[in-house]
Amino acid sequence: MALLDRSEWYDIARETNWTPSFVAESELFPDEMSDPYDVPVEAWETFDEPYKISYRQYVNIQREKDAAAYSVKAALSRQRFYESADVGYLNLIKMHYAAIALSEYAACHSDARMTRFGRAPGMRNMATFGMLDEMRHGQIQLWFPHELVGNDRQFDWAHEAHHSKNWAILAARHSLDDVMMSRDANTTAMMLNFAFEVGLTNIQMIGLANDAANMGDYTFQNLITSIQSDEARHAQIGVPVIEIMIENGKKAEAQYAVDVAFWRIWRIFAIAVGVPMDYYIPLEKRERSFKEYMHEFVITQYERQLRDVGLDRPWYWDLFLDDIENHHHCQQGGIWSWRETVWWHPVGAVSPPEREWLEEKYPGWNETYGYYWDVIIDQLVKDREEMTHQNCMPICCNVCQFPISNRPGPVWKARVHQTDHEGRRYNFCTPVCKWVFESDVERYAGNETIVDRMYNGTIQPQTLDAVLKYMGIGVISEGGRDGHDYRWADPYRPVADAAE
Ligand code: MN
Ligand code: MN
Repeated sequence: MALLDRSEWYDIARETNWTPSFVAESELFPDEMSDPYDVPVEAWETFDEPYKISYRQYVNIQREKDAAAYSVKAALSRQRFYESADVGYLNLIKMHYAAIALSEYAACHSDARMTRFGRAPGMRNMATFGMLDEMRHGQIQLWFPHELVGNDRQFDWAHEAHHSKNWAILAARHSLDDVMMSRDANTTAMMLNFAFEVGLTNIQMIGLANDAANMGDYTFQNLITSIQSDEARHAQIGVPVIEIMIENGKKAEAQYAVDVAFWRIWRIFAIAVGVPMDYYIPLEKRERSFKEYMHEFVITQYERQLRDVGLDRPWYWDLFLDDIENHHHCQQGGIWSWRETVWWHPVGAVSPPEREWLEEKYPGWNETYGYYWDVIIDQLVKDREEMTHQNCMPICCNVCQFPISNRPGPVWKARVHQTDHEGRRYNFCTPVCKWVFESDVERYAGNETIVDRMYNGTIQPQTLDAVLKYMGIGVISEGGRDGHDYRWADPYRPVADAAE
């Protein structure tokens, strides 16, 4: 039988819109699931996916990708890389799998929503492949860490994390639920496919892949490169949706969706990627700073992509640039100080040469973040390790859920931004999280941060042990301790001490 070229059948085959006769169009595609923007279906039918692929081609390509990633893993398993890897680097892997594996599975639901409720046949077609992509990402990123659980029970968090109420996971889920799980098909495409996947995943996938290769972890490098090749394809669902929105007079709505999502995902990415890049990767293996990666893979590219699609820079651009210099440094200090609340072993990574590097990459680091660490170092050299632990929880932002913080030291830029709503006071880390909240109060008002739950009696009794258990710590695996057993602080001990 003669086979047609794809170009001869593709457009006809994907034109699957029809006029329903048993139910109303509005029942088949309810606004809140499909399109609350009142863009006519004829406009959605102009959706033209830039990347065209048939199911047969898709399956063949994906099969090869999986075979390649799994065979690299199998070949390298014998090297026992993870058994001798630096604990800082293992932190990166533990954070990554826990934050990402089940988020990929969640993204499957987002794509499924577009597959069912998208108004454009081409969008539904691409989202079907996107859904299969995300299923692969979920499965492969559960399987790879699974073999490490025997050596180190904290790897169990790859599967456990998203089922827990750990503070870091509450933050990740709050943001991902907002961006991926609770919007109509079109808003999901703008938020997830454009702001998240086009805007931010390159830093994670390309930046981390470079660092992993420098470490000699070719298994992880191959894995995330393989995943990113799928993301680069299905991320393209977002662009035509935004273009159709703008053509139909909905630019403000598209800009809003994209700006909310970009900020929300940025706040978690800075921690999942920024902290490992600038602190967990051993100094001699760091290729670039997080800030340098951000400028190359996000700032320059995202600005151009926004312009190409017809949108503007977010109103908070200057605040975002400032946050690149701050947010992950604050959270590194916080995570280390509350190290027993996480499922990895945070490293201080502020020995003299590391501080020199930080000061070079982030001028002013020493007199601000260094000031925070000086207080800790002072306790460590006096052998008062117990003074370096925190006894209470910090105030968390009611949008991003992270501890409210900013530059420490003499400049002391930490400020809380507040709003009152129906008798309750809400706290925010930045004017941007406050803006997100105020732009859609009903959506965000009911949520309780981990600290709200401590004060409103959800967590009982109010003891450290109960709080840790509530967060899933010490249930299957233990919480964190300083990953390098404070060796990084030794150079700060007085010379006389060292001679004793
Ligand atoms: Mn994915
Ligand atoms: Mn994706």
